[in-house]
Amino acid sequence: MILRLAASSGFCFGVRRAIQMALDASKGRDVIYSIGELIHNPQFVKELEEQGIKVAKEAQDIYDSVVIIRSHGITFQDLQILQANGNIIIDATCPYVSRTHELIQIAIQDGYEVLILGDAKHPEVIGMMSYGNHHTRIIAPGEVPSGIKGKRICLISQTTQKIENLKKLACDILTQVLELKVYNSICLATTQRQNASAALAKDSDLMIVIGGRKSSNTKMLASLCSQYCTTLHIETEEELTADSLLGKERIGLSAGASTPEDRILKVYNKILKINGEEGLATSVHNIPLFKEESC
Ligand code: SF4
Repeated sequence: MILRLAASSGFCFGVRRAIQMALDASKGRDVIYSIGELIHNPQFVKELEEQGIKVAKEAQDIYDSVVIIRSHGITFQDLQILQANGNIIIDATCPYVSRTHELIQIAIQDGYEVLILGDAKHPEVIGMMSYGNHHTRIIAPGEVPSGIKGKRICLISQTTQKIENLKKLACDILTQVLELKVYNSICLATTQRQNASAALAKDSDLMIVIGGRKSSNTKMLASLCSQYCTTLHIETEEELTADSLLGKERIGLSAGASTPEDRILKVYNKILKINGEEGLATSVHNIPLFKEESC
């Protein structure tokens, strides 16, 4: 069996940064809050809770506390509520996400209607939308927007989208609009992870994509890999059985931006065990092909 891990798998720089900021802020304090789960990984969120980093559902529930804004960012309105309620705010919004907020505001000032390509239910996209105006809309991948004929349109994307989706939407609307400004706001970490995973999927019989089921970028990775070979999206090694590996000789692993290293290692080591191999990996750097992201 050939078992490899796509380069750039696991925590991206934005998630690593947010976790470090949360851990630093929690030192010497009984409890701090994040609005929503700090990362889309239920097992890791539980571990953080044990260290006093609690999840609050709504900004209005938190008063006079320390609050960390996760890498997805929050809405402009929630930020104002947190400030008004006397909280100390630690802003761990990923710089790639903050940039989309700035670009949307600039596009609006310049008179463009803004189309945000992304998942309308995702907190990052909800946050982006809050920086728009009544001419700002969210467009799901594959959807063709109406009412754009002869208009000046600015197209921007959720940071974890597939580039193919952005290219397709830009091409679909190009001939209808008066002017089209396109920001490729897909982050470098996502681009690197997707390219490496697609390359590995093309050379594998089976891809196993590890990450939270609610994680947008993990779902994107699984969808991308499934274009090239059989693909399983799992959260933990417990979901893997000998049957799922039956007849597969070239197995590729990939993991979303919110998947911790130990979760990847547990999956890798379980596959070795199923295959009857000795010697367990203690670092993702021991796994063939893996290379850390360079952003
Ligand atoms: S996936 Fe990209 S935008 Fe999102 S937190 Fe990571 S580096 Fe930032």
